[in-house]
Amino acid sequence: MEKKTYKIAFVGVGMIGAGLAVNAMMNGYETMLYDIRDLEQIKKQIEKVMNIMVKAEAISKEDAEEALKLVGYTSNLEEAVAGADIVEECLPERLELKQSVYASIQEITGPDTIIASSTSALFPTKLQEGAKYPGSILVAHPYNPSYLIPLIEICGGEQTEEAKIERAMEIFGGMGKVPIRCRKEVEGFLVNRLSWACMAAAQEAVKDGLCSVEDIDKAIMFGPGMRMAVTGQLLTISLGVDGGFRALAEKYGKEPTPEDEMYACGVEEEIANRSPEMGNTVEGVCEFRDHMFAEILKLQKLL
Ligand code: NAD
Repeated sequence: MEKKTYKIAFVGVGMIGAGLAVNAMMNGYETMLYDIRDLEQIKKQIEKVMNIMVKAEAISKEDAEEALKLVGYTSNLEEAVAGADIVEECLPERLELKQSVYASIQEITGPDTIIASSTSALFPTKLQEGAKYPGSILVAHPYNPSYLIPLIEICGGEQTEEAKIERAMEIFGGMGKVPIRCRKEVEGFLVNRLSWACMAAAQEAVKDGLCSVEDIDKAIMFGPGMRMAVTGQLLTISLGVDGGFRALAEKYGKEPTPEDEMYACGVEEEIANRSPEMGNTVEGVCEFRDHMFAEILKLQKLL
């Protein structure tokens, strides 16, 4: 099947915008870059990120040169966003700036173009306040370094149209990202909340004299962090017990919780949705996990 292609515009091409823009180009999207900085600087930044991808063998030198031809650089907002399927806004984290640029974008694009914000902390409901077409505005929060980390969290506001959320997930999926849905507007969305919880526990451990800074980082890198990278958190725990969440409480002499069945069903769904390469049965997942651990340890010269 022919791969679907889209026109994407980046408004603000700094650390985050440049990384995502390279992903878009590498996946054949027509890509427009708009910034108020000197465009030569932006071009150099894009080439730098593309070189990292070539060095990482994520793309060949020849394909990278072809991909760079798909990109347009402009200081003219209209030229950047007219006819775009989606605009990824990567401006500094200032609500009024983002809102005023959205107003200018929507004057040009009308309601069909999605405006996705990279914001880490501003809620989509706030971003859409006063907008002409609030239903087209949502958050698509990436993770740094955005050119390599596949995650992108999609969060809609009170007025975001469901169809726009689905389309945004499809567009980001097509440029090699892994979109997930954050269904409520909560501080830190999904991922920073997890990260903050881990950070707080790590700082507390050092502060309370449990261990050194080096040991808490080693604990994460060579323990739970390794497992989380391959099977997340809930799937990881479920793999530790024959029968998964349905057997967990009994094995550890605890009372089952009303949520255990919900986690068990979720894990089943997650396993079934994995690609055959990553294992889509419990045995397959374990086999893939062991292979991945061995590969990571070899790279770290620990195996
Ligand atoms: P950055 O400062 O590196 O880039 C911002 C870019 O916007 C710059 O190139 C700047 O010239 C441009 N800009 C400023 N005003 C403009 C205007 N009026 N019109 C057009 N361009 C303008 O910032 P960043 O780190 O890339 O962050 C961008 C967004 O991504 C923020 O909302 C931030 O919260 C979010 N984010 C950042 C990270 C991170 O780790 N850096 C991670 C996830 C999300």
